[in-house]
Amino acid sequence: MLSAKMQDALNAQVNAELWSAYLYLSMSVDASAKGFKGVANWYAIQFKEEQAHAQIFMNYILSRGGAVKLAPIAEVPTEWATPLESFEQTLAHEQKVTSLINNLCHIAADEKDFATSNMLVWFVNEQVEEEENAQDIIDSLRKVDDNKFGQYMIDKELAARVYVAPAILADKE
Ligand code: MG
Repeated sequence: MLSAKMQDALNAQVNAELWSAYLYLSMSVDASAKGFKGVANWYAIQFKEEQAHAQIFMNYILSRGGAVKLAPIAEVPTEWATPLESFEQTLAHEQKVTSLINNLCHIAADEKDFATSNMLVWFVNEQVEEEENAQDIIDSLRKVDDNKFGQYMIDKELAARVYVAPAILADKE
């Protein structure tokens, strides 16, 4: 059984993942409005990934006999001056999410809740990937700077991203 403290912390993470989803949906819509279709695609997939993260936490809470509580999702920003600005904010946001995951790991360790610790390993690894992905795109965008052809090529590259459901969820289907 989950402790009340662990359950509350996991529910807060469900909300944080859904806020991330909402943030990336907003970035997708903004990029689309500004003609960056590839950036819009990348963020539309990120939107789905964040919903999957929330789903993984909800499934886990339920599998432990806990109660899922869906709190209101706070407002998100709506405009970014350039793709570089949105990816810099993405990296900063993912670094914050990493600290939230680390905090969950601390609570689980404190409580000797090994099942939750084990579940969180997937997210610890996922955050390494999230930060690396954002950093890679920032590096590319900084290299091309204000070169329009370079920006066009990066947008093309980001258009190729496709959504793959996490195996941890695919197994449940
Ligand atoms: Mg996430």
